[in-house]
Amino acid sequence: MPVYTLPDLPYDYAALAPVISPEIIELHHDKHHAAYVKGANDTLEQLAEARDKETWGAINGLEKSLAFHLSGHILHSIYWRNMSGDGGGEPLEKDGVGELADAVAESFGSFARFKAQLSKAAATTQGSGWGVLAYEPLSGRLIVEQVYDHQGNVGQGATPILVFDAWEHAFYLQYRNQKVDFIEAMWQVVNWQDVAARYTAARSRADVLLLAP
Ligand code: MN
Repeated sequence: MPVYTLPDLPYDYAALAPVISPEIIELHHDKHHAAYVKGANDTLEQLAEARDKETWGAINGLEKSLAFHLSGHILHSIYWRNMSGDGGGEPLEKDGVGELADAVAESFGSFARFKAQLSKAAATTQGSGWGVLAYEPLSGRLIVEQVYDHQGNVGQGATPILVFDAWEHAFYLQYRNQKVDFIEAMWQVVNWQDVAARYTAARSRADVLLLAP
């Protein structure tokens, strides 16, 4: 049995149109995400073989491959659930996501400033990467991270709760080279209930690093 499996989409391929076309969602989930799942499982097998044979010549490449594919699998699994055809707007107390709204205001000054920072971080990735809102457990605050590939440039221990895929495969068929337009459109499909649930779960594990504040 493989360790990791591709999760089903929580909606059909057309659910996020016109912000993201059905063709992009199908390829992105069924081909790209599936490849990261396979890559993570294959790498675990190769590492097990290296341990069995005590052949460590490829250890650097295997550890990098594990970080890349596992992070790709995790980020895409969050990405699908971060979006909804009924999403958009901003987190508001009347929608039951007041704690998240308060945390955004406290950590970034206002929702508008947070939106500006995450949009800019996602849209200015060089090569392939992500813009990520993460819960940072040492401070108990939210931070924006600009992730390189799937795994670089991240703070240890922070939990991603809202992720914007800024790889070309996420938008190029529809938005061509207009990455800024794609990132701006992404805000129309953010599922704030999902983001708030992730914030609550991350907060409940705030002492996970076992470090004094
Ligand atoms: Mn992707």
